[in-house]
Amino acid sequence: MLTKESTGNAYDVAMENFEAAANTMGLDEDTRQMIKCPERVLTVSVPVRMDDGHIHRFEGYRVQHSTARGPAKGGIRFHPQVTLDEVKALATWMTWKCAVVNIPFGGGKGGVTCDPKHMSRGELERMTRRYTSAILPLIGPEQDIPAPDVYTNSQTMAWIMDTYSMTKGYSIAGVVTGKPISLGGSLGRNEATGRGVFYTVECACDHLKMPLKGAAIAVQGFGNAGSVAAQLFHEAGAKIVAVSDSTGSIYNRNGLNIPELIQMKTMCGHVEGFPESEPILPHELIGIDCDILVPAALENMIREDNAGTVKARIVAEAANGPVTPGADRILESKGCFVIPDILCNAGGVTVSYFEWVQDEQHLFWEAQDIYKRLERVMKTSFRDVLKIHMERKTPMRIAANILGIGRVAEAVQIRGIYP
Ligand code: GLU
Repeated sequence: MLTKESTGNAYDVAMENFEAAANTMGLDEDTRQMIKCPERVLTVSVPVRMDDGHIHRFEGYRVQHSTARGPAKGGIRFHPQVTLDEVKALATWMTWKCAVVNIPFGGGKGGVTCDPKHMSRGELERMTRRYTSAILPLIGPEQDIPAPDVYTNSQTMAWIMDTYSMTKGYSIAGVVTGKPISLGGSLGRNEATGRGVFYTVECACDHLKMPLKGAAIAVQGFGNAGSVAAQLFHEAGAKIVAVSDSTGSIYNRNGLNIPELIQMKTMCGHVEGFPESEPILPHELIGIDCDILVPAALENMIREDNAGTVKARIVAEAANGPVTPGADRILESKGCFVIPDILCNAGGVTVSYFEWVQDEQHLFWEAQDIYKRLERVMKTSFRDVLKIHMERKTPMRIAANILGIGRVAEAVQIRGIYP
């Protein structure tokens, strides 16, 4: 069972990472005060009539960390372990992430504490619509634009878009991204996070002069980001030796057949029991013998107590916040090259930006245009972060934070304080 460890509070981690970067860049105290904390935090009560007739009250959140560079932007997570602190951390990371890839958005995040795996489609729809109505005063195409995150998808976005549009009286596609194509979604949005992970790993391999072809890769988490990245690595000739999801972990030292594994996951909902694989314990995946480790699940997966077992040369953070600051120090001392989340997984929000632009213009692009633009954004951003990493001799995470925080700091300094 892959569960989030309670060893670290994600918001504490976000604040610790912020201070580390702010200290390295010598950011003044006034600017820190202006950009560090969320601008708005909303907690909502979400009563839902369940299929058996009783009413269950869920707790939901929407946090706008920053709107300095544009509308707040970030996903909505449905998960049993969602807390306000987690949502605040994820919103903070969205702010730096959008700034790292230089798209004109701030950062936000939402979540509902629920167990979507044990809810019917009807219950999920009613919960999503009631949650949307509760956060309605905050969201809008120019204000705050939700998107999918853990255990939400294009269907969830369609319900949000419809609920929002019904209250306004006309269809407003740009209120969410990650929508179905038929409602103004963008081609390539579904694969965007995994594709972005792939591009940054390509860049890291180039930098380290390490061939991607033939590299052994372990992927922790086989959801949208992990499975797409695995597919692209597989197509590039890498060997995916281990994969896990919330139900189990599997291993094959010669490489798993990823297209077939994706098929099985789609049909059965799990990876365990895949032919030509042996089961391993979830904690074994982190320390598996591989060249590239891709944590693509939840926060706090690589911690002080297991970071020492990591054998990979590259850790590519497809998830948000998978490595704790203590683990960062251990990985650093081992010479492990970490592609930090706010760079590595920024492909999703980048194509969200493309989707929003297309919705606003009512003009839609071809898939090849999206991929080309995404590749350019990811590779330019990687180069920008790498430059800071090399020039300042600082870890990639701090380098990415310096770039993101620096851009947000510049925006608030130029805007000044109202009134
Ligand atoms: N949930 C994704 C993330 O953490 C995507 C956010 C978005 O597209 O707004 O980056």
